[in-house]
Amino acid sequence: MADAASYDVIVIGGGPAGYPAAIRAAQNGLKVACIDGWKNRDGSNAFGGTCLNAGCIPSKALLESSELYHRAQHEFATHGIKAGALTLDLAAMQRRRATIVKGMTGGIASLLKAAGVTAIFGNGRLLPGRKVEVTAPDGSRQELAARHVILASGSVPVELKVLPFDGRQIVDSWGALEFDAVPQRLCVIGAGVIGLELGSVWKRLGAEVIVLEALEKFLVIADQQLAGEAARHFRKQGLDIRLGARVTAAKAGKDGVTVSYTDAKGEQSLQVDQVVVAVGRRPFTSGLLAEGTGVTLDERGFIQVDEHCHTAAENVWAVGDVVRGPMLAHKGKEEGIAVAERIAGRYGHVNYALIPSVIYTAPEIAWVGQTEEQLKAAGVGYKSGVFPFAASGRARAMEASAGFVKLLADKSTDEILGVHIIGPMAGELIAEAVLAMEFRASAEDLQRTIHAHPTLSEAVHEAALAADKRAIDSLNR
Ligand SMILES: Cc1cc2nc3c(=O)[nH]c(=O)nc-3n(C[C@H](O)[C@H](O)[C@H](O)COP(=O)(O)OP(=O)(O)OC[C@H]3O[C@@H](n4cnc5c(N)ncnc54)[C@H](O)[C@@H]3O)c2cc1C
Repeated sequence: MADAASYDVIVIGGGPAGYPAAIRAAQNGLKVACIDGWKNRDGSNAFGGTCLNAGCIPSKALLESSELYHRAQHEFATHGIKAGALTLDLAAMQRRRATIVKGMTGGIASLLKAAGVTAIFGNGRLLPGRKVEVTAPDGSRQELAARHVILASGSVPVELKVLPFDGRQIVDSWGALEFDAVPQRLCVIGAGVIGLELGSVWKRLGAEVIVLEALEKFLVIADQQLAGEAARHFRKQGLDIRLGARVTAAKAGKDGVTVSYTDAKGEQSLQVDQVVVAVGRRPFTSGLLAEGTGVTLDERGFIQVDEHCHTAAENVWAVGDVVRGPMLAHKGKEEGIAVAERIAGRYGHVNYALIPSVIYTAPEIAWVGQTEEQLKAAGVGYKSGVFPFAASGRARAMEASAGFVKLLADKSTDEILGVHIIGPMAGELIAEAVLAMEFRASAEDLQRTIHAHPTLSEAVHEAALAADKRAIDSLNR
């Protein structure tokens, strides 16, 4: 091997945590390399990680297409639009998804280049002393060295022992984004964010979807008023959500897959065409760390870091899904940027208390801050304001009046402690709440902020008013 080429910063992993770290480090005047080993099914390499290639972006592309199909079938007539017989061209829908992904991942390569980052396809392995061995797709090897290394190797789907992936009948979330035919009967294991989004896509496109969830409660991570509303709407849409259902075995054959599970009534089984396993993701560090780097893992396989994402090894950092905290692209992005700032001697900070969560179903779900259950458990005195989208002129005009905005504020200080939205564009509306809470706004601050009429954002305004029983456009209870 030739002498190690030397960088200020080497980032291993070019997903939403890694590539922003590389770009910000380069913007800070540092010499940076970003190494990524992602391989598409056709063998091509691409930056962007899970998020762009197999997660956030392709899932949203299909959610949008399938929602339009669903609305054309079920809603156009209400608007007075007669479209004739509707047909589904799944191949075209999938081509659109693939085109979006290709455009976005190509865009990352261009952004890295424009920022002056040396982008390298290959697998990176951290060696002691901040050296990095890179194995290129053709098998050739080179050794690089850096003052700082940022590990951003992401996560992979959890596989169930009783349901090993076969890539055809039993698939992970990536496989479920690439079906070339709509299954007649689809079983989704796991009613978490990914399971609900994928279940919604295939239900809207015509599949019978059964969702098996081991927990007794639906969406335990969300405010339970919101979770209850969500369960009601999803069941009305025909998603067959079975709670307390623990999968025990599966048998794939030429007639489909038999899934066995237990629930409160005992042993159950169902016959489906395909199964999507969406029971969570685990940190990915396979092949990443050579002996003697000093980087440590916790008992669940996450790279151990302090509150600034610094590992146990000097000047080795880790960000994104491979470290503790919610597995979300925007969380990883902010960590990557914060680390790049710290390396450059600047200020970097992630406010872990205010990371918004979004579920891109219909109705959409989004929240930030604390749930009512968390406030109760912590003994915090709070007031709650709820405004239904049924009372929003814009939502009615959009034929999207399901759901509500719920705002929780401290009873004595009026500080906003949590905002929970189920309804149209919830993922966009939550941004106002995040900003307000970043500035530690009170409910009164939102009450006194003018919101354009008629907009969906008026529902956030009215929920703030409702917290003081001063809503104008709905009854104050
Ligand atoms: C179906 C689905 C939908 C999702 N939707 C959303 C959403 O709407 N919003 C959201 O916030 N999050 C969403 N997520 C989660 C999101 O994708 C992840 O949180 C995010 O991708 C994590 O970013 P990361 O950079 O830490 O890791 P990753 O995106 O996993 O990227 C890690 C990269 O590092 C590479 N790598 C690993 N090891 C090495 C190595 N040794 N050498 C070189 N390269 C290596 C990998 O190949 C990969 O390219 C979704 C996930 C899935 C599966």
